[in-house]
Formats: sequence, structure tokens, C-alpha cells
Amino acid sequence: MTVQLNETHDASLRSWVTTANQAGTDFPLQNLPYGVFRRQGSNQAFRIGVAIGDQVLDLAAAHAAHAFAGYTELQGGHFTSAVNASNLNALMGLGTPVWSALRLALSRVLREGASQQGALQACLLAQTVAEFALPAHIGDYTDFYTSVHHATAVGKLFRPDNPLLPNYKWVPIGYHGRASSIGVSGQQFRRPVGQTKPPTSETPVFGPAKRMDYEMEIGIFIGPGNALGDVINMDKAESHIFGLCLLNDWSARDVQAWEYQPLGPFLAKNFASTISPWVVTLEALAPYRLAWTRDAEDPQPMAYLDAPDLRESGAFDIQLEVLLQTEKMRTEGAPAERLSLSNFRHSYWTIAQLVTHHTVNGCNLNPGDLLGSGTQSGPLAEEAGSLLELTEGGKKPLTFSNGEQRVFMEDGDAIIMRGWTQKDGWARIGFGEVVGTLLPART
Ligand code: CA
Repeated sequence: MTVQLNETHDASLRSWVTTANQAGTDFPLQNLPYGVFRRQGSNQAFRIGVAIGDQVLDLAAAHAAHAFAGYTELQGGHFTSAVNASNLNALMGLGTPVWSALRLALSRVLREGASQQGALQACLLAQTVAEFALPAHIGDYTDFYTSVHHATAVGKLFRPDNPLLPNYKWVPIGYHGRASSIGVSGQQFRRPVGQTKPPTSETPVFGPAKRMDYEMEIGIFIGPGNALGDVINMDKAESHIFGLCLLNDWSARDVQAWEYQPLGPFLAKNFASTISPWVVTLEALAPYRLAWTRDAEDPQPMAYLDAPDLRESGAFDIQLEVLLQTEKMRTEGAPAERLSLSNFRHSYWTIAQLVTHHTVNGCNLNPGDLLGSGTQSGPLAEEAGSLLELTEGGKKPLTFSNGEQRVFMEDGDAIIMRGWTQKDGWARIGFGEVVGTLLPART
């Protein structure tokens, strides 16, 4: 299950794209995440790109320049059509041997001293003049609920007498979400309108949602799928995962509170969700894996959700930061302010467990399907991944350095999420960011 460390992870590697060697870059040579881009304002078709420093390498152009000659896995029609596509679905479907060979080839041709530098220089575009599209056509989207800290905190607000339901520690809780309204970073959307029931009223009212919130999540892009009826077992689960991105699962809490029983989230969640443009592969994340643990007093995972590698390296050390920039801050040129900092290591279930559980009944996944991790809140109050938790259900306002206060989002607010990982002896790699802005409700 665990991806092996290899020469591509060597922290001493440097790129001839010099911005990739700068301390603090999200995209050093050791990362090489994939996205879909074109020149801003052009009518070109979107193309597959790889982030390197402050540049994007055009994958189809690099292939045409023979950057991948000599790798048997990177020859033939399937590979050529996958890198020439306008989304990542076909490449996602090709599987680990191809992804791994491509990572090795990219690492070698982008290294200092590579003979391909001259040919590949022309395949770069500065990220500042690129625009991005969704990395894949997302056929199906499922959102999980893997932070026990989030589930307990939210449970307390919605059901004070019964915060954590008895199934939580046995079954990875999830629901089928809506793929059509998922957008890429930069997404702007209108405050949703719907039914809510104020606590002071006997009957519901209709109007713009008042308790607009975000959820800091990790997105999991599926690689090769499974046939309907087949199960993806734990020992194979990670070979069906192409990589991870950042995901903001926007949530209208007042709509959610009124509609969620008995079938779960519906219109409170499906008006917009925003993901980062870059997908970081599991191979890039190999050095930053952690032991996954389950408290001795908690139920241990059932056999189908257990595996030898799980406890050794099932978790990921990914820092997750959320910032808010109000319209006033933006107008005055003031930077966004941090709301929280947490870590994906606190997740109660691993990404492999999510894939196995999703398919245990024979449900088929397809390349480009997206799984959400659920809000990643850590054990401390300041590690909460939503305003609902940070403001204790809207009771404790947050105050910013310019004096503005928030309990939930106001029109014009932008939420910025960032993710990165670092470890002594290894490169720091990042996910870039995902930004989304709330516009006023339609009138
Ligand atoms: Ca969610």
C-alpha cells in the first residue's frame, strides 16, 4: 500500500526553474502537482500542466518535445492522448506505474543540468498569467465526516444531549454530494436563498441564508475505478487514489439545521464547493506519512477496514490553514487574517479506509471522482475547520485587527485555504491555495 521513497524525494535536488529552489515555495522539484490551465484571457483549450516554482510546465508540449523518451510506460497512444487531454481523467485512469514513471521523468528533465532545459524552456508559462479549470471532470462527489473533533463539536450544537451518534466510531459516515456546483479556486457565488426556521418562530421562513460558513477539507481524486459489484480492498485502496487537493465545502448552517433530518445535507451544501487547482500525488506525499492510531478505548476498525500498513503509515502530516479577507480589508489593501490552523493527521479515518468503505457494497468509482474528507478540525478550539465551531454556533464573535467582527460570513468575504507539509531532512511541499468569495444573494 505504501509508496516507496525514491530519488524524486531527495531534498537536495534543485531545478533549472530557479523559483522552484526558493525557500517556502509550494512547488519545489519534489512536489510536481498536476492541474489544468491556459493563458489568461485566451480562447485556447485548457491543457494539463505541472507546477514547478512559479511556472506551469505544459505536459503535452513537453511530451511533444520528447521529454519522456526512454520510459516504456510513457509511450503509446493511451499515454499520448492522456497528456493531450483538457482534463486529468484519462491520466488518472492510467494508474500507478504510469504516474510513477512520469514523476521520475519530470524530476529528471527539470533538474539542474538536464539536457532538456533548452527544449522545455518554451513549454513554461508563469502561473501569474495562467487561468485554471477544474483538474478533472468530476462524475461523482461524496463527502465524508472524518474528524471526530468536528463531529463532536457540531453534534453538541445540533443535538446537545447526543453529540456523537453511536455509529460514528464504527462506520465512516458520508453522503453523496453534488458535482455540478464544484468550481476551481477563484469561484464566486451568490449567498443561497432557502427555507430556515428561526428558533423564535413556530414556522419556517424563506429568504437569504444568514449563517454562511465554510468547511476546510481535503479532496481525494480517484484514479483507476472499479467495476460495479467489485470491492477495492484496503491493500489496493491507495493505488486507486491519484492525489489530494484542498476543498472548501461551503455550508449554509441555518438551511442545514432545518433540512438535515432525516436524510442529511441537501440544499445547505450543493450551491457551491471550491477546490484548489493543483492535485498533489500520493507519491509526492510519501515522506510525510504518519502512523495512524486508534485509541485503545475506541472500537478498533472492522477487518475490512484494517490492513498491515494502516497503523504504520496510514495518516498524512498536512498543515491546513484558513484565512478570511473582508471586503473592507481588500479595499484597504490589508492582508487576509488567519482563522485557524489544523492538520490532516487528526482524521479519524484514512483515505484508504474511505475508498474501501465506499466500495464494500460493490459501488463503482470512476477516474476523476472526488471524495471529501469532511471538515478537518483538530482537538484544540483554535484548530476548528469552520466558523460554526470557532464562534460556538454564532455566539462568540471573532474580532479582526481592523475592528471588524464576524460570527458567520458577510457578503464580500473571501475565504482562503492553504495546505503544506514539511519535515526535517525533506523538502517543504505545498498545495497552493483555494479562494472563494461570497456575493450578495440574488434579489
Ligand atoms: Ca463537509
